[in-house]
Amino acid sequence: MGSVRKLYNEGKQVLSCEIYPPKKEDEFVNIYSKLDSLASLNLDFVSVTYGAGGSNAGKAVEIADYAKNKAGLEVVSHITSVGFTKEKLEEGLDKFKAIGIDNILVLRGDRPKIMTDDEFNSRDFIHASDMAKFIKDKGMDFTLLGACYPHKHPEAISEEDDVRNTKIKVENGCEVLISQLFFDNEYFRRLREKLLKIGVTVPISAGIMPITSAKQLGTTVTLSGTTVPEELSEIIAKYGDKPEEMKKYGIDYAIRQALELKQEGVDGLHFYIMNKPDLAEAMINAVR
Ligand code: FAD
Repeated sequence: MGSVRKLYNEGKQVLSCEIYPPKKEDEFVNIYSKLDSLASLNLDFVSVTYGAGGSNAGKAVEIADYAKNKAGLEVVSHITSVGFTKEKLEEGLDKFKAIGIDNILVLRGDRPKIMTDDEFNSRDFIHASDMAKFIKDKGMDFTLLGACYPHKHPEAISEEDDVRNTKIKVENGCEVLISQLFFDNEYFRRLREKLLKIGVTVPISAGIMPITSAKQLGTTVTLSGTTVPEELSEIIAKYGDKPEEMKKYGIDYAIRQALELKQEGVDGLHFYIMNKPDLAEAMINAVR
């Protein structure tokens, strides 16, 4: 079994990238050549996202299948429970198992706009940890991963509460955590210390996103609730309307973030590359 948990035991820093199924059909064709490019970088794994409510379920399976069985990459498939009954979840997981996927990132997902209050409140799985427990109780043979949040999850009452909830994920079967992206390493360090303090010792990969445009930064901050350090704001102010320079300095910022964490002995670095292999290449080459 290709459990990614074992990679973290080998004492090296695990390098991974996130890929998402493109929304437009014409972009979908390119995703395969992008996966081939990623394969040439000797990544430890790619993770493939999943739409909340299963909106792109078929495509996520197709991409995971190509990544694993054609490009030869190790794969972590994301799965979001928000739109799933227990039966549907089992069906979904069977599809991943059938194509040889051994690693699942369990996520709640965000509430789809069309979901009514009644539907949202009567779900089979309220939290990602409930889904982790279900999968483990059923004896399904997957290595489970979970998400964690350096700036706390936006819905969490407090950082302490969010950290305790992350611990439940681990107690229910998640063997590795991948963090939400952040631009200030101090938030990641704080989260790691807080988790350690309450006995969470599983490996944590740090989520790093190279920012290559002012628009991307705006969307990212809105979606993730991440704060922007002064240095990055200055880069945007100076180069926001100069695409080439913006890309260069944005990548440079992310590289410095990654190198600092590498030197501190981070368990893994997970790059949010917006489906752009050139960003993966720049990051991987810099940290290797
Ligand atoms: P949960 O762990 O359920 O947490 C949600 C909230 O509930 C938090 O505030 C938490 O503190 C609280 N909570 C958790 N457990 C408990 C408990 N037992 N009791 C009480 N409160 C609890 N979204 C997608 O749609 N598709 C993706 O592929 C995807 N990939 C992602 C990958 C990563 C690495 C990350 C960090 C996020 C990803 N997301 C994805 C976004 C994610 O779905 C959202 O952040 C979502 O709002 C929360 O998901 P979660 O699994 O962290 O939820």
